[in-house]
Amino acid sequence: MPSTSSSIYIHFPFCKTRCSYCAFYSQTDIKDFDRYVDALLLEAESRTSYLPDKNIATLYLGGGTPSLFPIQTIVRLMEKLSRLFNIQENAEMTIEVNPDDINSSYLSDLKKYSGINRISVGIQSFDDRELAAINRRHNSLTAKKALENIAAFFDNYSLDLIYGLPFQSVESYQNNLETALLFHPRHISAYALSVEQGTQLEKDLISQRMAIPGDDMSIQCYHITNKILGDNNFEHYEISNYALAGYKSKHNSRYWTGDNYLGLGAGAHSFNTTTRRWNFPSVERYIKSRFQYEEEQIDKKTALNEYIMLGLRTKNGVNLDFIDKKFGHEYKKTIERLSTQIPENHLIVDGMALSLNEDGMLFADKYASILFFL
Ligand code: SF4
Repeated sequence: MPSTSSSIYIHFPFCKTRCSYCAFYSQTDIKDFDRYVDALLLEAESRTSYLPDKNIATLYLGGGTPSLFPIQTIVRLMEKLSRLFNIQENAEMTIEVNPDDINSSYLSDLKKYSGINRISVGIQSFDDRELAAINRRHNSLTAKKALENIAAFFDNYSLDLIYGLPFQSVESYQNNLETALLFHPRHISAYALSVEQGTQLEKDLISQRMAIPGDDMSIQCYHITNKILGDNNFEHYEISNYALAGYKSKHNSRYWTGDNYLGLGAGAHSFNTTTRRWNFPSVERYIKSRFQYEEEQIDKKTALNEYIMLGLRTKNGVNLDFIDKKFGHEYKKTIERLSTQIPENHLIVDGMALSLNEDGMLFADKYASILFFL
């Protein structure tokens, strides 16, 4: 359920090179770094009233590639945010890093000076052929070295893996997962490859320069992930996310429960339960337009549909008691009635919570649409 504190997300839309599967906005021209950070600081100042609560429980530096930025820049940003907001003493503060950007001196300074206490590293695979096929900058050796370095400085770190990659087999994915566990991450995000419109990967597939394994392989990998990580004490708490006890991503969990967040930077989104805002996804325009944004009002049905859509992807599911109190009794009754259309062997009803089991989560979007209010 939503809490009273808030979150901040800061977007760094710069990448040295583009990964072929990626549809996120980022630019490879990194000459605007300083102007961009100046704009971020100004935007932070001008947005303090957007959040109903200035108590910040989680802060997330995402991208793009935040680890391209020098430590001094990150420290400058964090100091400014601490002056503008009340960042809680035990706040979760995460930075996304790419394996080939970080060395022990970078990580040591990050820990010493920035207040960052959680690392999320984009590994994706330990197989050089798979990494090259999606145009990642690092290779297997760099990935392993990065994990060793991170573990030397940070207790709380997460890594991302992708299954369904070109050249990947179920066995090579399993090997990736088992290799990841050798480095004792506290959290793993394992995503099924998604072919997004307009990406290089889509072009590679259309031109038959690349091929990817079919859906059956992805489903097998999903179940293998659940089994291997389950056997290693990871809780499967969201369709693609697994954590050891005490290490769930607080920041992402807050998105899924509809908490307030302020997004700063080009393309960043913000949400305060009544409105959603989004900045233009262009560094140049973001700087020149003084972070102009577009906004939509969130009506009751939209808010409820989002709660259902995000909730069904999580182990906690959706809570009927919460729906009753926040949205009204008639909505709760309707959801109870509609939920009977979800096959019994995919649905878990536990008191007031409706959730999907491991098999059911694979159809989370379809089942959410059954419960949607139009
Ligand atoms: S580094 Fe991340 S944001 Fe940049 S292109 Fe690759 S996947 Fe996308």
